[in-house]
Amino acid sequence: MFSVLASRAKTSRKNKTGSWRSTQRPKMLGKECIACGLCKFVCPEGCVEGTGKNEFTVDYDYCKGCGLCAFICPKKDVIMVPNQDEEDTKEDKGDT
Ligand code: SF4
Ligand code: SF4
Repeated sequence: MFSVLASRAKTSRKNKTGSWRSTQRPKMLGKECIACGLCKFVCPEGCVEGTGKNEFTVDYDYCKGCGLCAFICPKKDVIMVPNQDEEDTKEDKGDT
């Protein structure tokens, strides 16, 4: 199932979704991450980046807020939070 949902990173660049994301967006807590890569693997937009522990980030310009990354994370290190304006979203990219 996940192999059907997954897409390669950077393949959805024609589908910028930042302006119509659902009411929630993922937040990478960067505390308990074990670098399993599941969040990156299941993201249907290919907008999760990273390889090392606590280094995964989301490109919010292409995230549609589906919540799959938060659902699949075995360490609960990804949570869904209410959408904020674009500036707040950009600041969260660097949160650890
Ligand atoms: S919520 Fe997570 S899985 Fe869904 S599009 Fe955004 S980053 Fe990808
Ligand atoms: S699913 Fe969770 S533990 Fe695995 S890489 Fe993503 S944030 Fe880290």
